[in-house]
Amino acid sequence: MKKVAIISFPSKGTAGETGTWRVKKPVIERQKCVKCMICWLFCPEGTILRKEDDFVEIDYRYCKGCGVCANECPTKAITMVEE
Ligand code: SF4
Ligand code: SF4
Repeated sequence: MKKVAIISFPSKGTAGETGTWRVKKPVIERQKCVKCMICWLFCPEGTILRKEDDFVEIDYRYCKGCGVCANECPTKAITMVEE
């Protein structure tokens, strides 16, 4: 049987750009990032994007500020800061 991977990408839904719900936002410290993509795997909103240089970037239009990425990052490269 053929296996298919399903990957979701952030897009505008019925709730609009959900980033406006956020109280804290994740900020990535590039020097600490080892490009492991764990944050990308765990983000429940699919708002972490892989850039061409393999670093990650957050789409703040849809990030709800849940903090899962900061919690899972093995090098603590992500910090949640007040908006
Ligand atoms: S989990 Fe942390 S180290 Fe890994 S890609 Fe994300 S920000 Fe970088
Ligand atoms: S704070 Fe939550 S929604 Fe925002 S990028 Fe991190 S895991 Fe995704």
